[in-house]
Amino acid sequence: MPHDLPKAYDPTHLEDHWAEYWVREKLFDQPAPSPGDAPAAHPFTILLPPPNVTGRLHMGHMLNQTEMDILTRWHRMRGDTTLWLPGTDHAGIATQVMVERLLVAEGTSREALGREAFEARVWQWRDQYGKAILDQMKRLGASVDWSREYFTMDENLSVAVREAFTRLYHQGLIYRGAYVVNWCPSCQTAISDLEVVHEEELGKLWEIRYPVVGEAGQFLTIATTRPETMLGDVAVAIHPEDERYLHLHGKKLLLPLLNREIPIVLDSWVSRDFGTGAVKITPAHDPNDFALGERHNLPSINVMDAAAKINEAGGAYQGLDRYVARKRILADLDALRLLGAVHDHKLSVGRCDRSKDVVEPRLSTQWFIAVSKRPAEGKPSMAETAIAAVTAGADGEKPIQFTPAMYEKTYLNWMENIHDWCISRQLWWGHRIPAWHCAACHKITVPQPGQAADPSVCDHCQSAEITQETDVLDTWFSSGLLPVSVFGWPFLNTSGAPGLDSETGERGSVDFQTFYPTSLLVTGFDILFFWVARMIMLGCWFAQDVPLADGSKRPLSESVPFRDVYIHALVRDANREKMSKMKGNVIDPIEIVKKYGTDAVRFTLASMASPGTDIAFNEARTEGYRAFANKIWNAARFIFMNVDRAAEVGIKVDRSMLGSMPFVCDPAPLEARWIAAEFHKTAAEVNQFLANYRYDDAANTIYQFFWGSFCDWYLEIVKIRLDFSEGADKGSTEAALTTLLSTFEASLRLLCPFMPFITEEIWQAIYDGTPPEESVALAGYPNGTFKDSATTTEMSQLQSLITDIRSLRKDLEIAEKLSVDLLLADTHPSASFDLELLIDKNLLILQRLAKVSNVSVVPKLDEPNVRTMGFIDFQFIYEKEIDFPAERERLTKDIAKLEKNIATSEGTLGKPGFTAKAPANIVEGLKKQLEENHLLLAKAKAALEALPKDAQ
Ligand SMILES: [Zn+2]
Ligand SMILES: [Zn+2]
Repeated sequence: MPHDLPKAYDPTHLEDHWAEYWVREKLFDQPAPSPGDAPAAHPFTILLPPPNVTGRLHMGHMLNQTEMDILTRWHRMRGDTTLWLPGTDHAGIATQVMVERLLVAEGTSREALGREAFEARVWQWRDQYGKAILDQMKRLGASVDWSREYFTMDENLSVAVREAFTRLYHQGLIYRGAYVVNWCPSCQTAISDLEVVHEEELGKLWEIRYPVVGEAGQFLTIATTRPETMLGDVAVAIHPEDERYLHLHGKKLLLPLLNREIPIVLDSWVSRDFGTGAVKITPAHDPNDFALGERHNLPSINVMDAAAKINEAGGAYQGLDRYVARKRILADLDALRLLGAVHDHKLSVGRCDRSKDVVEPRLSTQWFIAVSKRPAEGKPSMAETAIAAVTAGADGEKPIQFTPAMYEKTYLNWMENIHDWCISRQLWWGHRIPAWHCAACHKITVPQPGQAADPSVCDHCQSAEITQETDVLDTWFSSGLLPVSVFGWPFLNTSGAPGLDSETGERGSVDFQTFYPTSLLVTGFDILFFWVARMIMLGCWFAQDVPLADGSKRPLSESVPFRDVYIHALVRDANREKMSKMKGNVIDPIEIVKKYGTDAVRFTLASMASPGTDIAFNEARTEGYRAFANKIWNAARFIFMNVDRAAEVGIKVDRSMLGSMPFVCDPAPLEARWIAAEFHKTAAEVNQFLANYRYDDAANTIYQFFWGSFCDWYLEIVKIRLDFSEGADKGSTEAALTTLLSTFEASLRLLCPFMPFITEEIWQAIYDGTPPEESVALAGYPNGTFKDSATTTEMSQLQSLITDIRSLRKDLEIAEKLSVDLLLADTHPSASFDLELLIDKNLLILQRLAKVSNVSVVPKLDEPNVRTMGFIDFQFIYEKEIDFPAERERLTKDIAKLEKNIATSEGTLGKPGFTAKAPANIVEGLKKQLEENHLLLAKAKAALEALPKDAQ
């Protein structure tokens, strides 16, 4: 006997309970298979995009996690070997900045603490707060394997980072060099192109006159948007064919303010149309100038320090902030009469995505991955491999599929134009680069792959005076390795001896062989290049060296980090506006969950999620799905109550039907056969929709089934069969209850991936403490196989008849409770539809759902009082019962309303000058309305008068 559910549905309580239960019982753990195990059937692997340790859950996470959880639960219930792997990212800059702020508040600083103490402090912060976001995930019921939770700075993942670096270095794919990088003066580190946000801003274009050496009174005028960089000018370039400047070929200029002689160089890269056609060349502060400088063998003079203050190379301007220096320089040039015209100028300004500070292109020494370099003759580069990974191979299959497909183009376009990846960051928090500088020979020592110990002497001169590089690696370097590193790559010997582990070795662990490639990545567009592209680059690169389980060479299709990429949409507010703190329209998922329950919020997101469509999150919708949950809850209570009542009179439900697919055939009553067929149809559709990422269609199909078919129709009809009276047909009641309970149980399984909490609560209650599995999430997912079109047709005819009768009753204002007699005439032109038979077979249902008593089909119905719907004529036979008190109230209300309208109209018409000023048609309309209202008032008064005086 199912246990009692509380009367009211209270999501908070039950969700807390089950969320805790799922984690405690480790229901979703997927242990590593043992070496002897049979290969897993249909493994489904999915990596959680690791949130930053500094992160808090936002609506985007909630959508992303809902989509992942639905698919993961669906696969698990279908019997696939399912693994959803969670973790957090150490988030280099973000975390360092956050802890630095804390230190400032405490009156100290990173520098005062020193590197080691600072790192310790960050670890301490991470242990205390860094799991907040995962705790939120646990509460939201994400069905991940918590036993595998990782942190990108964990020991084993750090080993992978070091191995990847050393392999690439010794393959000649990592180099160190001085280049102009995007420098953020606030974060004081190089940042990648992707971390720079470009926006059009209004600035100025200043013309500055550079005196020609040895030609008194001769100048060459340049134009610049950043005059402070002139301190680092080493040349001025002109186009070789620019006729305006032919006379200056071979001449030199005197750099104003610093009085340094600089050459005029000829380069066809110079645009004759921009500015004056003469370009100052500052190789240390502009990537194009740097390239030009290389071509012409020019020196580079860096004039700014890490904070973008002018350094010693800037002469009198040393120590000034770049913008203070700019003002001073312009004033000084003006005083020297070297400042020419000043134009307003729109320019693209790059700002740091994090600090919003203006990025300063600045020459510095950094580490790079040569992504387009081929490591050996005939071996493709990293970028070429990453392109092949999304391009159809010889078999016509693409190793990686993008959904929506348009992102494939975006990805390819970026990959085809990719620059070398600057992987070094001037931070203290992160994976420190495993390279050592020699003080004696100034060369670099990088340990060999597989070598666990740090080098103690220089590889080149054997000097012991070596120190480790202070830079750390870009955060995306480690997260790009996750698909391989979480499954044990690089399988190194843990005993400390160099090389591969003898157990797992080059074949990789069983874990790797089972779960790699992962099946699916669900992520946002914003990290398509940062993360998705880097995982493809690094994943393919390193996995290709791990043979397949049978020892054969791993093809590209098995080396990719994932087979499918699903790029999810944005969650916007109800007005389709992007959520932003500035606009104050940010919806906190935790608040919404508190208000409506996780299930309702998940269902809201699912019901609107489809590839490429942004979601306009509307709370009213969530309220609606809270009502949906409530409807299911009440259905459960109704069913349980009837099972209990049946038990009291000795009727036992056949529980052997539970856990399978509902299957009912003749001679069962129509509604039983119909709900079984409906269920199969729904289940088949939902599976199909989920296979195509149509979360919205899947959710809406289940909703229609549960609310419409199951609750509104089936449950109403089945009440007829639940007869517990003396002498009733027990067999029929038992059969009805069995179908009812088993269909309901199967429906809960169908809904489980979308609403895991309420389905768990009710499903457990069905089994009253002895469920066949520990959780509904481990039970089988229904799939539809069975069709019964005769039943479906019959039911839909009956439904439309009932709907018609209901709507006509409403039209005729027939009291809801009044049962009426009904005459029907079928005017269908074809004879295929037998109205009489339909009614004959289903009179009980018709009587109950349409509130009718005697129903007869006659050949023809004559006016008056005949109503027609479709091909059926209806005539209702009933005595109009009048509810006198209600009628009195209605008439009194009508009279009051009419009197008020009349007073208003008369007031308007009576205003002096109104009839003269207002348009004639308006005055006419008002007069006519007034006349009608007088008439209606008289009628209502008469009707009220006619009501029996003493009737209550
Ligand atoms: Zn910054
Ligand atoms: Zn050396």
